[in-house]
Formats: sequence, C-alpha cells, structure tokens
Amino acid sequence: NADRLLLIGALEYKDKRVKDVMTDLEHCFLLEVRSRLNFATMLAIYKSGFTRIPVYESSRQNIKGILYVKDLILVDPDDETELSAVLAFRGRDVASVREDVKLDVVFKEFMSSNNHMLLVRRAPDMPGAPDGEVVGLITLEDVMEELIQAEIVDE
Ligand code: ADP
Repeated sequence: NADRLLLIGALEYKDKRVKDVMTDLEHCFLLEVRSRLNFATMLAIYKSGFTRIPVYESSRQNIKGILYVKDLILVDPDDETELSAVLAFRGRDVASVREDVKLDVVFKEFMSSNNHMLLVRRAPDMPGAPDGEVVGLITLEDVMEELIQAEIVDE
C-alpha cells in the first residue's frame, strides 16, 4: 500500500546524492545582473514559470544572488530598471552545497532554514580544498520527488 511505499522511499533516498537529482547548470534559467527589467525580460521570466532565478555576473558560474520573482510586483517595465537594483533591495548571500552530499543531509538543511534553493558546487579534488565551481542548483522539490518516487518506480 501507499504507506509502505512511502516508507521505502524515505529509506532509499538517503543513498542518493545531490548530483543525482540537481538541475544541471546548463538547464538552469539564469539572468545576468546588468539585464534591464523591461517587458521582454519580464515576459521571459513569466514564461520560465520559476519563482527563484539565480543571477550571474559575466559568466554563468559566477552567481551573485537570487531573484525572487514576487519582488517584481512593484517593478514597472517601462522604467527599464537594471536587475542589480532589485537584487540590492533584497540581496542575500547565495548558499551552496557540494554535489557529493547525501540527500538526507540536504533535506535536514532545507528543514532547518527558510531557504529552499541551494547552488551546487563541484567537490574539490583534494581534501580540505575549497569547493569548486557551480554545476547546478537543487531545491526542496528535487529532494521531495526522490522521497515519493519509490511509489512510482516500485510497481
Ligand atoms: P518553482 O518554485 O520555481 O516551481 P521548485 O523549487 O518547485 O521551483 O523546483 C521545481 C524544479 O525546477 C526542480 O527540479 C528545480 O531544480 C528546478 N528549478 C527551480 N528553479 C529553477 C531555475 N531558475 N532554473 C532551472 N530549474 C529550476
């Protein structure tokens, strides 16, 4: 029954790691920090359907902040405001997690903070070295899907 399948999902998701369920950087919808919030940009954001959009400077690995789409409610596209102005208004450090971290650890992190999106960084080549470049993003939804997937895969 469904209870049993959820229990299996809860036990098995722990064997998976961030890189198994993340969204690869090449598939991420990002914006450049100097973009103008004109009608074309607003339409692209709307069509993307995402609620959180990482913002980069110059290169896609260089993430400077996260745009919360609800913060665009007060932006008039005719003003052609630079995206950086909206980020400064509600700027936050962008938290990240290593690609080799297990899903139960990320799940606990999501539960204990109000941040439900993390950038994913490559694991360093040598122990003790700083985390590598950004390779994708992971959200609470990616982890939850893994918890429930056992129900779909099982029979
Ligand atoms: P949303 O609230 O925007 O629908 P979710 O947290 O529900 O986002 O995540 C749904 C899926 O979309 C997940 O697989 C997540 O990795 C992916 N995702 C979230 N934001 C983005 C983004 N800006 N670009 C690409 N994929 C994203």
